[in-house]
Amino acid sequence: MLIIGPPGSGKGTQAARISERLGVPAISTGDIFRDNVKRQTPLGVEARTFMDAGDFVPDSVTNSMVRDRLAQDDVQEGFLLDGYPRTAAQVTELDDILRENALELDVVLQLTADDEELVRRLLGRAELDGRSDDTERVIRHRLGLYHDQTEAVVSRYDERGIVTRVDGIGPIDEITERVMSVLTVQS
Ligand code: AMP
Repeated sequence: MLIIGPPGSGKGTQAARISERLGVPAISTGDIFRDNVKRQTPLGVEARTFMDAGDFVPDSVTNSMVRDRLAQDDVQEGFLLDGYPRTAAQVTELDDILRENALELDVVLQLTADDEELVRRLLGRAELDGRSDDTERVIRHRLGLYHDQTEAVVSRYDERGIVTRVDGIGPIDEITERVMSVLTVQS
């Protein structure tokens, strides 16, 4: 399955919980990039400038990273992809990767929340853990990219009838229960 939502919608938090409940790996492109930045790998060095500006890392870099990850054995019984695809080109690429690995998407979960709530949350997070892309200017830029590009990604999956929306506003535990109940209905 995929989990898609604007920055600050809690997709990382919910992805970790869903992954534990379903017993499948959660794969977050943002986390993989941040880990590479921390370790100063060539991938991290390349990704860092884009991330700090709140821009998307180029598709060529992101796609090959996801391609490598989805070729590993642990995704055969299921996986939860968090933060990918975010562009139309990534949707096409993911279709190819899944076909090549004989995998199929069952569900695309979209977490929703309004922009002003998201900005408030992200500025709060910035105080707590100081992510370099959590300044108000960069936050608004990332939200703009979500509306301009990632909502079109959700529309593509909507056409396939596999999108389920969950309200991302509320206590974390309650949102997890909302998610788990829609997933149970689906399966
Ligand atoms: P996230 O933790 O999902 O908010 O991702 C943090 C940052 O990593 C994003 O603002 C982008 O710079 C980069 N990133 C993560 N996923 C992607 C993706 N699918 N395509 C391009 N850039 C990405």
